[in-house]
Amino acid sequence: MRITKVKTLQLKKIPRVIWVVLETDEGISGLGETVAKPGVARAVIHEVCSSFLLGKNPLDIEWLWISMFRAFSSHGATGAEMRAISAIDIALWDILGKYTGQPIYRLLGGACRDKVKVYNTGLAMLAREKYSKKIYEQPGEPAKKLLKLGIDVVKIAPFDRYSVKPFLGHYISPEDLKKGLEVVKRLREAIGDRMQIAIDMYSQFDVPAAIEIARALEPYDILWIEDPAMPDNASAFAEVKAATKIRIAASERLHTRYAFRRICENQAADIIIADPCWAGGISETKKIASMAEVYELPFAPHNAGGPVLHIVNSLLCINIPNLWMMESMRHNYQNFGEFVTPLPEIKNGYITPLEGPGLGAELKPELWDREDAMVDTTVEGEVRDPEAAVYKQAGFGTRQPQQ
Ligand SMILES: [Mg+2]
Repeated sequence: MRITKVKTLQLKKIPRVIWVVLETDEGISGLGETVAKPGVARAVIHEVCSSFLLGKNPLDIEWLWISMFRAFSSHGATGAEMRAISAIDIALWDILGKYTGQPIYRLLGGACRDKVKVYNTGLAMLAREKYSKKIYEQPGEPAKKLLKLGIDVVKIAPFDRYSVKPFLGHYISPEDLKKGLEVVKRLREAIGDRMQIAIDMYSQFDVPAAIEIARALEPYDILWIEDPAMPDNASAFAEVKAATKIRIAASERLHTRYAFRRICENQAADIIIADPCWAGGISETKKIASMAEVYELPFAPHNAGGPVLHIVNSLLCINIPNLWMMESMRHNYQNFGEFVTPLPEIKNGYITPLEGPGLGAELKPELWDREDAMVDTTVEGEVRDPEAAVYKQAGFGTRQPQQ
């Protein structure tokens, strides 16, 4: 089997998402996705990654991954480069699943559970409520709606708004600390102990400010604090962890197993969080989760993207032995039916992955013809990247496709 075409699709309606479709000479195609700054990811996919993919066997997932990674790592393989690799890796696993007739979780080693517990990020139930002030004034109301749906863990971010000018997260005033805590207090009063609360701080504070907030949160029975500071400095992150009894989670901001190795070795987190469409795809996320397992840590995927990431996470979570729980965003996934079919069902606070081959789902074909569609295609023989010859000289991407 040979990859013959690399296609990307973006829709203005869902502007953070880019889908990649890899077509093959055997009529099997694979679907992948990455999220955020999609224009630069698209450039990397077509201008560079296509040189490594076209004409190659899509079943050689590890070799294709490492070829692209080595080419990029000389100048830092995170950011757009890793988003591109992530989307492509997901599409390669989709092809493998369709080729073997198995859902991706079977190819990862099968199911460790029948269904996966989801938590909800934010108290928004629909997109229009997303940034509503009312949610923070009366957090109990949407929380009770989530409880009725069987979702009993919610993650909120009541402090990041206080990390802006003039202090930029290096100081939080007693008034702002109190205002943030007030949201947590109102929520706790409304739901009692029927719901668990996690706090995301989006890496907006420095270590002393993060410790101050974490300690102030301790009386409210918080399940975890996510990204209290920047996770790049693992020992600084470990300082926050050592200073509070609340579990610390890290981090959607880290990419590849190498970044997570620093977190694990420095005992800098209690929960390992990674995003499959940012950190390196299905291949890399499985490795990151396995490394967390060696350090006796649970894994929880980041899931704030589009429908393919949502599906990928459900397939990984059913398989990963050391799973914590799966993130979900109700105001996002309620709208995914416009783009992808079928979708995994969420019922009574649990998601059940699809059983079809590969991802088990496809983009709706009419998306390609929509007025807001931006389509780009690279075909075999087309080389957009003037550096492509350099990679071949270096020995990467040169192996002939298997017959
Ligand atoms: Mg987060």
